[in-house]
Amino acid sequence: NITEIKQKEEALELLNRELKKHTEELALSNKELEQFAYIASHDLQEPLRMVTSFLTQLKKKYSDQLDEKAQQYIYFAHDGATRMRQIILDLLEYSRVGRGEYQVVEVNTKDLVSEVLMLQKRCIETQNAEIKLGKLPDLKVEELPLKQLFSNLIGNALKYHSKDRRPVIEISAEEKDVYWEFKISDNGIGIEEEFKEKIFVIFQRLHHRDEYEGTGIGLAICKKIVDHFGGEIWVESAYGKGSSFYFTIPKQF
Ligand code: ADP
Repeated sequence: NITEIKQKEEALELLNRELKKHTEELALSNKELEQFAYIASHDLQEPLRMVTSFLTQLKKKYSDQLDEKAQQYIYFAHDGATRMRQIILDLLEYSRVGRGEYQVVEVNTKDLVSEVLMLQKRCIETQNAEIKLGKLPDLKVEELPLKQLFSNLIGNALKYHSKDRRPVIEISAEEKDVYWEFKISDNGIGIEEEFKEKIFVIFQRLHHRDEYEGTGIGLAICKKIVDHFGGEIWVESAYGKGSSFYFTIPKQF
């Protein structure tokens, strides 16, 4: 019996060692991937700037010599370059999350959300959106990533509104034992059940850019920020009726 226990213990220890090794390898490959994303996006900016600037020159200096088709080609090329620039900027942002660049400070989340709303004021006014603020706590947290998190989620709530009704967005938090649970809910287009996890994966979008602009990186950034905080993020949604995005932040960061 003792031999059996010993054997089991040894097997368990071996398994633990293997698991540890795999975790370390995974962490390393993640780090390398992030580094790659950072370097690639950083170094892509300069040649892209060149493409855009020569396209602009071409249009400016030779516009009168070009026919309509050529003008259209320049427009498409310029549009492509502009989109690529946005993808690069978003990728850079994505690879920056969790690098420990920010300090942990005391944050009044109500003030922080008000600042985010201020920045999106134009969009809120054009859509005549109603914003409801619930109870929001003071937290010890990295301020800028938290701001970006709210900004992405509120931005999406505004962007994916329903054309049939006035957008109503509610932002609130609920205190749990060791964490705070935040909620950003909207009465927008909603998300089908099968896509509720996919949307948090980088570059995954449910719409063509003709319908809604975007790069499909916003929610992946949100997930990375929340992971970095040690919390969780998820969505509950009724397709065609609206969505509620939840995320948690531990009280002890
Ligand atoms: P983007 O908005 O650039 O496409 P995101 O990563 O922010 O990228 O979102 C991924 C997808 O999730 C979006 O393309 C959209 O289909 C869906 N989505 C995100 N937020 C909402 C929302 N509030 N209501 C409905 N769909 C949403």
